[in-house]
This record gives sequence, C-alpha cells and structure tokens, in this order.
Amino acid sequence: MAMNKILFFVDIYKWLFNLNRFLAGGKVTIFFFILQCKTQCWTQLQAIYTLFMKIFKESESLNVYLNTQRIIANKVGFVPTMGALHEGHLSLIRRSTQTADITVCSIFVNPLQFNNTEDFRKYPKTLENDIMLLEQSGCDVLFMPGEKEIYPDEASRIPHYELGYAATVLEGKFRPGHFEGVCLVVEKLLNIVNPDFLFLGQKDFQQCIIIERLIQLMNKNTQLIICPIVREESGLAMSSRNLRLSSSERKTAAAIYQHLVWIKEKLTTDNFKDLQKKAISELEEMGFKTDYLELANRNTLELIDVCKKGEEAIILIAVFLNGVRLIDNQLIN
Ligand code: AMP
Repeated sequence: MAMNKILFFVDIYKWLFNLNRFLAGGKVTIFFFILQCKTQCWTQLQAIYTLFMKIFKESESLNVYLNTQRIIANKVGFVPTMGALHEGHLSLIRRSTQTADITVCSIFVNPLQFNNTEDFRKYPKTLENDIMLLEQSGCDVLFMPGEKEIYPDEASRIPHYELGYAATVLEGKFRPGHFEGVCLVVEKLLNIVNPDFLFLGQKDFQQCIIIERLIQLMNKNTQLIICPIVREESGLAMSSRNLRLSSSERKTAAAIYQHLVWIKEKLTTDNFKDLQKKAISELEEMGFKTDYLELANRNTLELIDVCKKGEEAIILIAVFLNGVRLIDNQLIN
C-alpha cells in the first residue's frame, strides 16, 4: 500500500513535471515567437526609420548620431548650403549619395558672410520644400542649426585664418569679410560633421579655392569634390537668388552666360581686355551693374589679361540685376 502510494505520487509528480515542461516549452515557444516578431518588427521599423532623413538642430546630438553610424557607414559626404534649394544643390546631394555611405546636408543662412544686411534679410527661405527635396534626393541627415549653435559667443565670430591672396580679389574685393565669414561657418561645420568628402559647386569657384586652403590649414582629411554648374534651360546658372528675379529678369539674366560663352570662344583670337570692355558695356546697356568680369589663373586666381596656350584659366563674373547679385564662371582649357 505504502509502495502504491509512493508510485501514485511519483506518477502525479511526473505528470505535473511533464505539464510544467509542456507549459514551460509553450512559454518558451511563445516567448521566442514574440521575440522573433519583435525582432522582425524592430528590423522593419529600423529599416523604415533609416529610410527617413534625420533632422538635427544641435551639433552634439548630430555628432553622437554620426559616430554611431560610422560603425556601419564608412564614408560620410557633406553638402553645406544656405537653403532655398534647387537642382544645383540637389546635384551635389546626389553626387554625395553615389560617393559616400551617408550624406549630410546643412542649411544655415550664415549672417557673417553677408556684407549687405539687405541681401541677408531678403535671402529666400523655403524650408518645407527644402526638406521634401532632400528626402527625395536620398539625403540621410539634415543639420539645421540656429545661430547660437554655430556662434555661441563673440570669440566664435572672430576670423582666425590667413586666407592669402585668393581671398583678396574678385568676391574678396567686392564683398569685404565675405570669405572670413564663409570660413568661420565651414570650419565649424567641418569640425561637427567630420566628413570624408565635401561637395561644393563650381558656381562658387573662388569659394572652392578658399575652402581648399581652409581644409589644408585645418589639417583635415576631407577630400574636396567640385561639382559642375547646373543651369536653367536659358543657360542662367541656378541660384537661390534667382527666386528674387521676375520672369522677365530671369530671361534677361541669361545674357550673363551668353557673354561668358562669347568671350570664351573669342579668346583664342581676340584680346581679353577688348572683350571685357565690350561685354560690360552690352550688359550694362541691358540693365546690369557690373562688380567684375575678369580672366584669372584657375589655380591661383591671379588676374591675367592673356591666357597662354594650355594655361588653366577661368572667366569670372559678378553683376547686379535690379539689386540681385548674380555670379557665374567659365573654365578655359
Ligand atoms: P549656397 O546655398 O548658395 O551656399 O550653395 C551651396 C552649395 O551649392 C555651394 O557649394 C554652391 O556652389 C552649390 N551650388 C549653388 N548653385 C549651384 C549650381 N547652379 N550648380 C552647382 N552647384 C551649385
């Protein structure tokens, strides 16, 4: 009897043990099932999350994000802008997405690079559209800092790089302090983003030369990639400032490009000074006010009158049309 009782309890124990194992197994299965679902959902959510462009306003959070991304994304491409984006900007973004693993764009209208307060005040702002265009172009990260983030104190507004001759001519001459302002913001942005590639447009050719020097002075390992000028059908170089032109002014503004092309063609036979004089007088007759129209060595920006055979040169122009400042250039050879 005693033995039967013992066997009975052993059976009950076994039964309970098996039930427990079954339930535990079930729980484990359910646990794994939930875990798997969660992991799948998580990966899907992550995939969806990575599809969206991230927007940062603070450099610290951008820095943390980029540092974690660098574990999987090797190369970071960077496109600094002042917003009011157009196809010219987007061509830089696309070039970055083809070259780098992660593309960062910044939008910051830098007050320190405007030597004219009216120009700064009237600079076009189209933020909602910019965000949409960047998303569509495959930009991964948008950095849009406020002024305090870039210039936290007075000391951060003081220029501290010796930019040399190239910063004193052309734009440097007509917009005093412009390149110092450009370098202050670009230095700050380069230190925050730490990009492997920096994409700039040939439209601001002198700016490219100055920033190349800044990269050297900063001892950065960033490779500068200069992208071709994107033009409207008429030949007018795309620019955020074109938004300030009426449709008839836009048509007139195409004359800038036409005159550059004309000078380039004639330069093989004619003297530059004669071509310069004729072009300026024609443009001014059409209502333009000229800051400069110059021929320069492409590497040093030394102003020249004659383009020797094989010399890498560039024609650069800056004009006002109804108070809107427009720049353009043409490479020679
Ligand atoms: P911005 O917003 O004017 O400071 O320009 C930001 C960047 O876009 C600069 O590197 C410009 O040179 C470049 N960019 C502006 N317009 C054009 C254009 N029409 N074609 C190519 N790049 C451009």
